[in-house]
Amino acid sequence: MTETATLPSRDRTAKPAEKAQPLYAAHKWVYSRNVKGPFRRLKWAVLGVLLGLYYIGPWLRWDRGPGAPDQALLIDMPARRAYFFAIEIWPQEIYYLTGLLILGAIGLFFVTALAGRVWCGFTCPQTVWTDLFLWAERLIEGDRAARMRLDAAPLSAAKAAKKGLKHGVWLFISVATGGAWILYFEDAFTVTSRIFAGEASTTVYFFIGLFTATTYLLAGWAREQVCIYMCPWPRFQSAMFDEHSLIVTYEAWRGEPRGKAKPGISFEGRGHCVDCGLCHQVCPTGVDIRKGQQLACIGCALCVDACRGVMDRFGLPRGLITYDSMANQAARAAGLPRRLRLVRPRTLAYVAVLSVVAAVMAAALTTRARVDVSVLHDRAPLYVRLSDGAISNGFTYKILNMERQPKTFGLDLAGIEGARLKVVGIAADWVEAVELPVKADDIGTFRVLVRVEADQLHGRSTGMVFRLKDQTTGQAYNHEVAFSGPGTVSSTAAGVP
Ligand code: SF4
Ligand code: SF4
Repeated sequence: MTETATLPSRDRTAKPAEKAQPLYAAHKWVYSRNVKGPFRRLKWAVLGVLLGLYYIGPWLRWDRGPGAPDQALLIDMPARRAYFFAIEIWPQEIYYLTGLLILGAIGLFFVTALAGRVWCGFTCPQTVWTDLFLWAERLIEGDRAARMRLDAAPLSAAKAAKKGLKHGVWLFISVATGGAWILYFEDAFTVTSRIFAGEASTTVYFFIGLFTATTYLLAGWAREQVCIYMCPWPRFQSAMFDEHSLIVTYEAWRGEPRGKAKPGISFEGRGHCVDCGLCHQVCPTGVDIRKGQQLACIGCALCVDACRGVMDRFGLPRGLITYDSMANQAARAAGLPRRLRLVRPRTLAYVAVLSVVAAVMAAALTTRARVDVSVLHDRAPLYVRLSDGAISNGFTYKILNMERQPKTFGLDLAGIEGARLKVVGIAADWVEAVELPVKADDIGTFRVLVRVEADQLHGRSTGMVFRLKDQTTGQAYNHEVAFSGPGTVSSTAAGVP
């Protein structure tokens, strides 16, 4: 695929070298032809389901109780919360999203090892929206030949009307796409009425504009250029293929030598490819699969459909272009039995990793605590000697209540005999235990001071436990900390060892 530029000759007496190959080929607009067949129908079905999910998603509701958003799929940036039906993710639980990304990546590796670029050919957003834009283009300007004639024709009122209508439809789809994206970040009903009333924030209009522009440019104009030049995925996916991965292949061993033909002729002594060019014409990335595997082939299988119809017309066996593995192709070319191996160490390894990650995530999600506690010891000073000789340490105590009802927690101490505590704004005197209220769906932050008699300490650091108890459920949350003291250092009013 890579073309090498010719180096200039050093021999000045020699004839000028042949014209150097350009490093960059000018872009040729791809006029892909419509095709009918099982893979085309499958692509329409996938497109319908994916676009349906994308556009309908923000309008789905999910009751989470009073005061909580009822949008099923929502990323609430101001509240720093993500909602996915019954699952609510707090910023502290961002590792679930990391787990989802890992699952997605391994799933993609698995699918690629099994069936090549099916993600690219059927489900990638670039493919889906480009297909939608192409559908609109064909509807307005006609199929391949009509579009080529229209583009070659001089500007006329009819041509301007068709082009204007096509770009209007493209823009409409782009605005709908950009607008739908915003709905995943704010309540869909509220933000939609604000957008139409001109009352939405500048950020909302900015992102609608941004996603409208990118959809219009990438799906309308850039199309296959995104897959060939911008997307990194084709570059490293070859590492996931092996000779048993299913990919779109041309059976050169039975297609060649190719040649033009009419129905009814004998194919004795020649290949089955009738050189009709249909496989090339239907390709959305402009690939001629008969030249072998190419980076630009996204595995959409439309050429399979095209060739299938041709083979049927000539009464030849289907599958001259087909989903097959290289190993199977080689076996069939040699007249050996089929060698399709979907279950192999690589695919088994991906399934094993997928299962482990999915099981760990499911277990973590179902058993996760809805209360989280963090304790931070004051850094300076580490301790304070009180006027009666006792030692005091300060802590910042945070309770994260992820539930939808307010909670009261009991807090006391263990590990050091006679330890007492004070909580700023709640308990002004030294007490053994205290009650801490935390609002629903909120973080309670408390300034806690702990007082200990100096003779109860063992050196500079003595282990102590904050014991927190949910007063409703009885669930305990113990937190071990180090209580700092002067140790053998000479007594001071406040110390930083
Ligand atoms: S569609 Fe089939 S027969 Fe026609 S050129 Fe392609 S491979 Fe040959
Ligand atoms: S060569 Fe065939 S499978 Fe590959 S992108 Fe073109 S039409 Fe799709």
